Amino acid sequence: MLPFKLVYSDDYYLPIGSHVFPAEKYKCIHDRLLASGIVTPSDFLVPSPASDEDILLVHTPQYVQKLKSGTLTALEELQLEVPFSPELVRAFWLAAGGSVLAADRALDDGVAINIGGGFHHAFPGHGEGFCMIHDVAVAIRCMQRDGKIRTAMTVDCDVHQGNGTAVIFSRACVPSNPFPRSSASNPGRNIARGAHPADVFTISLHQLNNYPTFKPPSSLDLDLPDGIGDANYVACLGDALSWGLSKLRPELICYLAGADPYCEDQLGGLSLTIEGMKARDALVFQIAKAEGIPVMVTLAGGYALKLEDTVTIHCNTVVSAKEVFGGG
Ligand SMILES: [Zn+2]
Repeated sequence: MLPFKLVYSDDYYLPIGSHVFPAEKYKCIHDRLLASGIVTPSDFLVPSPASDEDILLVHTPQYVQKLKSGTLTALEELQLEVPFSPELVRAFWLAAGGSVLAADRALDDGVAINIGGGFHHAFPGHGEGFCMIHDVAVAIRCMQRDGKIRTAMTVDCDVHQGNGTAVIFSRACVPSNPFPRSSASNPGRNIARGAHPADVFTISLHQLNNYPTFKPPSSLDLDLPDGIGDANYVACLGDALSWGLSKLRPELICYLAGADPYCEDQLGGLSLTIEGMKARDALVFQIAKAEGIPVMVTLAGGYALKLEDTVTIHCNTVVSAKEVFGGG
């Protein structure tokens, strides 16, 4: 049994048909974790859908109304890049509920993992890049509304920049001191951009030459060059976390453990190995534990040529949390 909870529902499945987004990955991860004996059935919590009130903490009433009435324009549906359906709306409300539950449990247990979520391309008034609702932002705003936290930090390690996250939490940004570059995270040119927000500090490590073309400023963006490997990536992440934590000491870290920095990802252009991805997860968990900051995890993207690799990378995030936070 784990010393923390995993949040999962079979209804996380996204009804989008044959698609580069492997909607079945959530169930595959759940099943693999159980079959391998890494977790037991009692480690899982089943979420309820977020309430409309929760969703409206982040998203505009007009957008929510369009989703609930099925009246997105053709352009809006195109931008979403997944086929709209009422079932898809329900799946995203559930993913948001899962992240709210994971955030809540992380505050109690030190860590919690949503075996879903991480839809960081959703904006207040529109969805894009397979993301309809920004579950992580909804979770942060719910925790703040309920007086459980005042501050949070998002640590986005998906290969694609967290543009929705950056915009949602962009209020009160002011210029900050330059990001101090160590030799390990300095590939010869400046890859860091930054601004400093009031209550939520957003960090994004992503491939520069990738979607989204326009990358709105996070509190700290690391625009990584193509093909960066395990050692340099982990060094960049370490520097980013140290610098971020020197700017804001959050009451909750929201870690988006995207599987798409993997070298065999179809939508990514970085060169991390499966072992490097696990080292990345371990670093986030070790720092959160050392600093005594609760961490909630969402999965975000993952489009490996072989689905089993995506599943392995996401399962390893659970294994890594188990190794760092104990539980045998
Ligand atoms: Zn991605």
